[in-house]
Amino acid sequence: MDNCIFCKIIRGEIPSQKVFENEGYFAFRDIHPQAKTHVLVIPKVHVKNVLEADEALLGGLFHTAAQVARQEGLSEGFRLVSNCGKHGAQSVEHLHVHILGGEQLGEDMRGK
Ligand code: 5GP
Ligand code: ZN
Repeated sequence: MDNCIFCKIIRGEIPSQKVFENEGYFAFRDIHPQAKTHVLVIPKVHVKNVLEADEALLGGLFHTAAQVARQEGLSEGFRLVSNCGKHGAQSVEHLHVHILGGEQLGEDMRGK
């Protein structure tokens, strides 16, 4: 999608700190980290949020998030958060999962 920030990140038009990439998914560090480790995992295909995604895409997204969490050394545990819609605090309308691990910084996303 032309005007989507996350599609631009995937295309390399906006720089990001990439931590993982495979055929279908891309992972990068959140620009405003809310935990010591805060990574966003997104599908390369533009889908708005979990309500618009099919089972295979969501399965792949969570599987990729687990892979990235393992790669980041989050063996002590972590949270996966996917905000959906305006009342669900979704600010970027491209499906994403937040991986939050380690010490929390700033606002608690569970209270969002
Ligand atoms: P949401 O509130 O939609 O669940 O989360 C969107 C996340 O994207 C926010 O945590 C925000 O910090 C992050 N974000 C927004 N724009 C950029 C960007 O240009 N680069 C990176 N790395 N993260 C971004
Ligand atoms: Zn997009």
